[in-house]
Formats: sequence, C-alpha cells, structure tokens
Amino acid sequence: MSGAAHDTDEAWQRSVRAQFPIIVAHPELAYLDSAATSQKPRAVLDAVQTYLTTCNANAGRGAYPWANRTTELIERARHRVKEFLGDPEPDRSAVHFTAGTTEGLRVVAHDWLMEYLADGDEILVPFADHRANLDPWLETRSRLAARGVTVHVRALPYQEASGDYDHRALASAVGPRTRFVAATHVHHVYGGDMNVHRLRAAVGPHVPICLDAAQSAGHLPLRVGDPALDVDFVVFSGHKAFALPGTGAVWARNTRGPVLRPAGWQGTPNTVGVVSLLAALDWLDTVGVARVGAHVTALATRLTDRLRRLDAYEILGCPASLASDTALPPAQRRQGIVTFRHRSIPSDDLGFILFSHGFMVRADSLCQAGADDKDGSVRVSPQVYNTAEEVDRLLTVLTDLA
Ligand code: PLP
Repeated sequence: MSGAAHDTDEAWQRSVRAQFPIIVAHPELAYLDSAATSQKPRAVLDAVQTYLTTCNANAGRGAYPWANRTTELIERARHRVKEFLGDPEPDRSAVHFTAGTTEGLRVVAHDWLMEYLADGDEILVPFADHRANLDPWLETRSRLAARGVTVHVRALPYQEASGDYDHRALASAVGPRTRFVAATHVHHVYGGDMNVHRLRAAVGPHVPICLDAAQSAGHLPLRVGDPALDVDFVVFSGHKAFALPGTGAVWARNTRGPVLRPAGWQGTPNTVGVVSLLAALDWLDTVGVARVGAHVTALATRLTDRLRRLDAYEILGCPASLASDTALPPAQRRQGIVTFRHRSIPSDDLGFILFSHGFMVRADSLCQAGADDKDGSVRVSPQVYNTAEEVDRLLTVLTDLA
C-alpha cells in the first residue's frame, strides 16, 4: 500500500472512530468484543433520540401523524434491509424484524420449516457453529416427532484442512429426501469464511438454504441477487451491525417452499430498534461495508501474524487461513475474529488479566454448539473503531504473558 493510501485509510479510520461517543469517551479502554455486540455511532444514537422525541407512537395503529410516521419508518426499514442485501425481487421477498439472529433462526424453524417438512425428510445443519443455528432445527425435529412426523437431522460436514464446510462430502450427504440446509456465513469462533457460495452447487437448485449472517452482516457485502449467494433466508442481528440491542431481521426470498408467515399475533414491534436498524444500515452505506470489513480483517491479520509466533498461544481455527502471506484467495480467508488459548493460563483468567490492562474481550465457550466451559477460549473481535495501535498494545501484553 502506498504511503498516501495508508494516510488516507488512517484519516478515514480516525474520522469514523470519532463518530462513536462511547469509544471517544474511553481512550484508556479497547473494546474488542464486537462479534458479541457492536458500539453505536452518533448517527444511530441521533436517529433514536429524534424518533423518541418527535414521533414515538405505535405502528399501524393510529390515525394521527406520529403513528403514521412510525409505520412509514418501519416500512422504510423493511425496504432498506432488502436494499442492503441487494434483493433482486423485493416485491416477492419478505423481511421480518426480530430480536436478533437467535430469534430469527427460530422464526424460520418454527414458522416455516414445521410447515414445509414431511415424514421421512432430511435436513442438514451445522453441529459446530453457534448453538443459535442448531437448537431451532433440533427443536423442530422434536416438535414434529410429537406429531408423529419423523425428520432426520444430519450434520453439515466440515473439512478440517480448510476450516469450512466439506463441499465434496456434502455432495454425498445430500440425498433425494434432503429438503433444507442451514449454514453459517462466517464462523463466530474461528472467523473463517464458510464458503457458502459452494453450497448451492452441492445441494442442487431446489433445496432451500438458510444463512446465519450474524458475523458477516456489516462486514461483508451481502448480495442475494448474486448466484454466489443463492440462499433462501438471510438472518442477522442488528446489534452486531451498529443498531440497538434486541434488533435483527429475517429476509425470506419466498421462491422455494411456502411463504414465510410468522405465526400468531405479532403485537407491538420494537419500533425504536427498527428505527436504529434503518439508521445503522444507512450509516454503513455511508462508510462502506467493504471498507469496514477490510479494516477489521487487517486488524485481525495484524494480531494473528504476531500471535502465531508466540508458542504460549494456540490459535483456534484453520491454520491455512491464518497468515497474511497465505496463498488462499480472499474468499477462503479468515474474517475479523481471532480466538486463542494460552497454554497455561485458563481463558477466563486471561480475560480478567486483559481487562486489567484495559482490553474488553470475550472469554468463555462462545456459545459454540457442543462446547462447554472447559472448552473456553479468548476471542478478540475488532470493529471499525479499533486501531492498529490498540492491537499492538494488546500484543505487548500478550507477549509479556507468554
Ligand atoms: N449466530 C452467530 C454466528 C453468532 O455469532 C451469534 C451471536 O454471537 C448468534 C447467531 C446469535 O446472535 P444473537 O445473540 O444476536 O441472537
């Protein structure tokens, strides 16, 4: 990178960082837990404040301007999610707002998959991703079993060498009764891009695919009109992408299987959360999702490149995706998450030690399906507001602890 380009990137990052009041207020702390939840830019905080102080009302339930304005904002947000995903058929698809990815995946499972599956069908789901992307599918199997409908749940095969799904094994795991696949876009522990662009070829044109985009929305441009992302559901958490906590969405393409219709009376939506999501997506467009993702990945690479030289640490995930000098094409590279263990300091202790130096990181079993506390690790997940200097300070502490 030329010096000028580097300066421009630094100036850009400084100006973006300055938009996060909580970050600016705490220069002594480094928030490195953004895979859990992101901090919020001024634009989102202002949108929330403006909404609550000018037109807070219930949506779709009033013949007065505040209620109408609220309804309009929610519809705009729905449209905005479709735009954000590059939806080629917005008149056909649907967006349902949820409290996050966990609730979103459960909506797909309970309100769509239940209706779609028949006795003897098979589904393929990930057994080593976030438990939010396993529990709902197992619950569906149990609920159908209670009705006398047997559904077989098979594991989406992994390949150790590349750290993503085993697309060759997948081809043989898919049978005539395979009716649904659930996958993850970016792994929340290993940070690996799961190469979901290969899924469609492996499962054929008719099997619906549900994508957990919790760790990719806001990091990678998501274009569902692109054949590489020919999935039927995209589920993500707004709060990991700069919106308020308790926000998220399910986008449903609605071209394979029944139309998704969330069951039951929906009640009052999280209007202010939806307003924050609208503002967050607008803000992300302004700064550029690809640029955010590139910055975050560069920080993760900076951390990984030096950490892997310290024998005291074991970095989790695919070794081939770790180095900045890897020959792997970008799609197979690690995104902005680095998870590791110290070989002799327990991970929860390491988390406390790091906080005593001002670093906020995640230190537990990371909600990975099948993992328990003894599988604890430390996860560093930077965001656009983090700096190379913070990563270097963290590396100094980790080197001392080595
Ligand atoms: N899926 C993945 C890959 C995640 O990383 C997370 C959260 O960390 C979730 C699902 C659950 O998201 P939420 O807690 O917003 O429901």
